[in-house]
Amino acid sequence: MVRLLLYVFDLVMATIVAWILSRVVQRLFGNPRLGPQGRRPSAPGGASRSAIAGETARDPVCGMFVSTELSHRLRQGGETLHFCSRECLERFQTHATKS
Ligand SMILES: [Zn+2]
Repeated sequence: MVRLLLYVFDLVMATIVAWILSRVVQRLFGNPRLGPQGRRPSAPGGASRSAIAGETARDPVCGMFVSTELSHRLRQGGETLHFCSRECLERFQTHATKS
């Protein structure tokens, strides 16, 4: 019983230490979003946090509103279409070639 408590205590301590470390790292390296990875194709919903700034456009595939700065773009005719993700862009392209 005591052993179990010690185990749980260890786990909690490890979590706290990991949290503090991540805080320190964040403070040392500044904004983690400007890391070396740069702009990656975001996961669904990933772009929504910064989508408020600037212009937004509607993704014609899933209907989601995306920032025109972060979107995946496709030039078609005279207009530019904006997609939330590469999947949506590809889905749109396969549909466009079919019809
Ligand atoms: Zn989409």
